[in-house]
Amino acid sequence: MTVTATAVRTIGHWIDAAEHVPDGSRTADVFNPATGTVTTRLALADDAVIDRAIESAQRGFEQWSAYSIARRQTVLFAFRELLNERRDELAALITSEHGKVLSDAMGEIMRGQEVVELACGFPHLTKGEFSENASTGVDVYSIKQPLGVVGIISPFNFPAMVPMWFFPVAIAAGNAVILKPSEKDPSAAMWIARLWAEAGLPEGVFTVLQGDKAAVDGLLNDPRVQSISFVGSTPIAQYIYEQASRNGKRVQALGGAKNHMLVLPDADLDLVADQAVNAGYGAAGERCMAVSVVLAVEPVADELIEKIATRISRLRVGDGAGADGVEPDMGPLITQEHRDRVASYVDIAEADGGRIVVDGRRFEAEGCESGFFFGPTLIDDLPLDSQAYTDEIFGPVLQVVRIGSFQEGVALINSGRFGNGTAIFTNDGGAARRFQHEVQVGMIGINVPIPVPVAYHSFGGWKQSLFGDAKAYGVHGFEFFTREKAVTARWIDPSRRASSEHAGINL
Ligand code: NAD
Repeated sequence: MTVTATAVRTIGHWIDAAEHVPDGSRTADVFNPATGTVTTRLALADDAVIDRAIESAQRGFEQWSAYSIARRQTVLFAFRELLNERRDELAALITSEHGKVLSDAMGEIMRGQEVVELACGFPHLTKGEFSENASTGVDVYSIKQPLGVVGIISPFNFPAMVPMWFFPVAIAAGNAVILKPSEKDPSAAMWIARLWAEAGLPEGVFTVLQGDKAAVDGLLNDPRVQSISFVGSTPIAQYIYEQASRNGKRVQALGGAKNHMLVLPDADLDLVADQAVNAGYGAAGERCMAVSVVLAVEPVADELIEKIATRISRLRVGDGAGADGVEPDMGPLITQEHRDRVASYVDIAEADGGRIVVDGRRFEAEGCESGFFFGPTLIDDLPLDSQAYTDEIFGPVLQVVRIGSFQEGVALINSGRFGNGTAIFTNDGGAARRFQHEVQVGMIGINVPIPVPVAYHSFGGWKQSLFGDAKAYGVHGFEFFTREKAVTARWIDPSRRASSEHAGINL
């Protein structure tokens, strides 16, 4: 049974620098996943709201793109300072709607803040190039200009960081952003919108459009929206990519993952077990860079499984906000529906012959019995044709696969349909070097389990983990959010003109 808090407020859209709750909107419930309570309702956009949001963003774009570089930079720095001062508030908001522990919520803000800091230095990344005298008296140069109104559609699992992969870069480059956050945790986007207003961003440059498929389709189908940056599950990423491309938009669509960690027999198994537990169960496994499969090159599997199981027994699972000043290691899953889906994958693994070493299916968090909790789960001996191995589960479920060699591990990783992240644990530099060369994955860790690149590199996977050509942030981000003009100019030297033409110019 779902409990609804009394006097639940409705969260609206952020249009023209104000919250807007239209009368008679369709709504969706927003939960605190730790308690299972409905804490707020969310207004879902209809066609009229979508149109109003895009119109406002267009006006915002006209004003913002005419600002000088120096003036734009002042606003970005102000946003960065406010975020730095007030990020505790944002972390608490994330935990209350997503469920992740507070330190993890803070971690995602700090990773997003890196991109804000990168964007503060945008003049260097949006400069054009100049070739003097390409032909006699002819110069060729390029200018980078913003696209216009750009759409960002984000998933539930990083309500602050994922939007921050895109909007600081898009705004710095002179675009107006419409963010469509996940309907499951929409408040972080509204908090960020208020912060932008406080930092001095003009109206219409940062708009939040709340909603579901209707809002997404509205952005995809409107010719005034120039580009789409999407992050979410693979089937939706593919749909977004195809639909946006069909409509002539620039698109980057980041999808799901199934990340493998390859452990060679020379690795330090205590380090591996620590990292596998952090990377497998942190944020309850709801990270696109979570490790979900450990490929153990024999003879280490038994020892490693024992070490991981011992560490699992020490994990504290509970309300991410903590109780009595103690923060747990892991919070709940996002919804009851998702919890049941994760449980169904463990059922499949068991039916397919997997050995459930640690079983989280019947886990209950003390004092939070109505929350959407699922205990850390460890599976051994899972057949590789089981759907529990081939699908992304997106929960606290770690699978160990026993293999005979390095080559077998690389072949397994490369045979998968995803290519987001992977890691190798070894003390052999030559093996690590071969791994990075041969593995068909976009982000690689060497003795690092979650290799999310820093802001001045770029984030993105291969295969079904990224549809499109441009990764997020870094140089890729600035290329995505600008378009280039090449100018070929000829100016005749005054000395070659008739003297009457350059009267007053004393050469
Ligand atoms: P999701 O695909 O269900 O939703 C993502 C966004 O798409 C949301 O804003 C949602 O409202 C919208 N959406 C959902 N269904 C839609 C539909 N039928 N048509 C149009 N829009 C629709 O993803 P999620 O459950 O919010 O997030 C988890 C997924 O995101 C996982 O698969 C995870 O791996 C992936 N993810 C990937 C990355 C990455 O960098 N590759 C990062 C974070 C999350």
